[in-house]
Amino acid sequence: MSEQEAIGCMDSHERIRKAQTSGRSFKDPVEWLGRMDINRHDFPYASGLIADSFDEWYKKDAALSFTESWKWCIFDYTGKWLADSSGAREPGNPLWEQIVAVCLQTAGECTLQIEENGVETSFFAMPVGTRSNGEIFALLGCAMPTEQFAKGGRNAAEAMAKHFSTCFYRQFEYVFVTDLASVHIHEERESSRRSLLFQIVQRMYDSIDVDAVLTEVIASISAMYPGADLTLYMSQDHRRAHPQVKHLPLRWNQEDVCGKAFKSGRVALRTINEDNQLVEIGLPLGGKQGVYGVFHLVMRVPAHQNMDNMDMSFLSMVASTAGTAFENAKLYERSNQLIRELRMSNGLSERLNQSLQLGETFEAAFEGLLEMFEADYCCILHYSEDKDGLEAVMCNYPGLSNEIIEVGRGIGGKVYSLGEPVILTEYDQSGARSRLMDFTDSQSLIATPLSVGGEVRGAIMLAHRRPHYFSFDNFRLLQALAGQIGLAVGNALLHAEVHRLANRDSLTGLHARHYLDQSIKEMQNCDFCGTLVVVDIDNFKSVNDTYGHQKGDHILKQVSDILRASIRQGDLAARWGGEELALYLPQLNAQQAYVVAERIRLRVQKETDPSVTVSCGIAEWDWTEKDRASADSLFYRADMALYEAKNNGRNKVVVEAEVRQN
Ligand code: GH3
Ligand code: MG
Ligand code: MG
Repeated sequence: MSEQEAIGCMDSHERIRKAQTSGRSFKDPVEWLGRMDINRHDFPYASGLIADSFDEWYKKDAALSFTESWKWCIFDYTGKWLADSSGAREPGNPLWEQIVAVCLQTAGECTLQIEENGVETSFFAMPVGTRSNGEIFALLGCAMPTEQFAKGGRNAAEAMAKHFSTCFYRQFEYVFVTDLASVHIHEERESSRRSLLFQIVQRMYDSIDVDAVLTEVIASISAMYPGADLTLYMSQDHRRAHPQVKHLPLRWNQEDVCGKAFKSGRVALRTINEDNQLVEIGLPLGGKQGVYGVFHLVMRVPAHQNMDNMDMSFLSMVASTAGTAFENAKLYERSNQLIRELRMSNGLSERLNQSLQLGETFEAAFEGLLEMFEADYCCILHYSEDKDGLEAVMCNYPGLSNEIIEVGRGIGGKVYSLGEPVILTEYDQSGARSRLMDFTDSQSLIATPLSVGGEVRGAIMLAHRRPHYFSFDNFRLLQALAGQIGLAVGNALLHAEVHRLANRDSLTGLHARHYLDQSIKEMQNCDFCGTLVVVDIDNFKSVNDTYGHQKGDHILKQVSDILRASIRQGDLAARWGGEELALYLPQLNAQQAYVVAERIRLRVQKETDPSVTVSCGIAEWDWTEKDRASADSLFYRADMALYEAKNNGRNKVVVEAEVRQN
């Protein structure tokens, strides 16, 4: 809009006041007011004021007894009729057009006498000039009987025209001063708002806490509009700390100012009730990255104080300042949160790295998660092939510890089978079923699948009795940590497998000799007795020579399988070296071991193909004989017994000499 157009849109009073005040000094306001005038540039805007002054003048000052029959009218500087003393909307007499034209042409008075109904009337127009140079800004017209006109009426009319001019200037000064006062009030209000806004901005930017920013802006708006009903609707992931902060509804009514403000990111205003001036305002709380919420204000606005542009722009400024401050505080909070998460994640890694044992890894994860999330309950489920279900390997609710959960059943079973994480804010309302939640009376849950090398192997569940306890950030963090836990579980499983492979003989699948040695030593620490059986294939060299080495290997495997199938759980079968095998039978004495060895001897003879025989040497230990209780002694004595079996014709079981003698 150009300056000219802008001026045209302004109220005429304001236009005149602006022209008058610009560049003037206010040293002596009374003198300055007295010299104040309108000029030709103001004339187009002065008609309203001229007409108002005319009304005022006529009603108060022109209605004298001797002028009762006189008719007055007023014209603007172009000769356009503005008003008359009868209050008519249109000029009463076409004669005036001629008179006014002459008046303007000559810049002087003009009179015309006309006879009407036997009475001669004088139509008399007088220019009204400006204070400073007499430039004509209006014409005052008067119609009176010619008789009166001739006898002093003209002079009286001229005097009254002067009086009109005074009245006009009085009115002009009054309007001018009123305008000045209102501008002053307006500016004062604006300045107080500016300083308030400045304070708000300063306080908000000083707050690095999200809730403090919201509390500050709520307090500021409430202080500005004390009678207003103010609510702040925040998006769903914001935790509400302030009582005036509520969750943003998911659906809006079309007319809803909050919906409009939230979607458009601009202020929305609606008049609820015209009569009592009830208005509703939606103010978006937004920053550079989006809109986080909406302020909802309902207030009564008195007519004289209508919600002008200033109020609206002030409110939007407060809201946008709050939005930016909120965003900054949120970013600060977020970076703190990330640092905290990083620390937690490091802490958990440290714990997880402390052990390569699967059980200890689960324990470290369980303790770490409980502590980090300050959860009431934690349950780690791990799929067990043996038990064909999810075993609760860790759970601080005793009723569920080591329980087997069916795949696909309950929340944990579903998280495992679908491989999808779950967050529940109010379990009772969710319709989902979970034993953990039911037993522990919990309301909040975050659960995530536990994947090892891309394959889901279990599930992790964290629960809290309070509803809405876990945030979306918690949910995300658990998923990130589950990756770390999965890695640690994978390492532990791999470690166990490597360990298993290292302790096995690859040809026979039996334990390796070093494993047998170590296990015997470990068992001797807690057992009372035990027996070692050394099993050697008879004439194996000639078997190899006859059938070849490959067949020899096959026979070795057959004998190993017979050994494995003939012992109890907890007994150990190992490859002692070459074609010699060994059994360790904990808690059995030599006589009992003899029965086992005999059974093996007979089975080997019967079941191997081509048939071979074995010889066995047996030695035992018990805790009362210290010198015989070492593993080395045991091996030596069993070997001696085997030697005896070989010497006595093979395909025999021989118990060490001392035992036999007893
Ligand atoms: P004895 O009855 O006295 O035990 O006679 P033997 O022939 O079994 O005993 P010896 O110690 O003389 O020979 C052991 C043979 O076992 C020699 C070797 O070829 C064979 N042997 C050792 N380890 C393996 C193996 O892993 N596979 C095969 N096929 N043969 C093996
Ligand atoms: Mg042999
Ligand atoms: Mg041998």
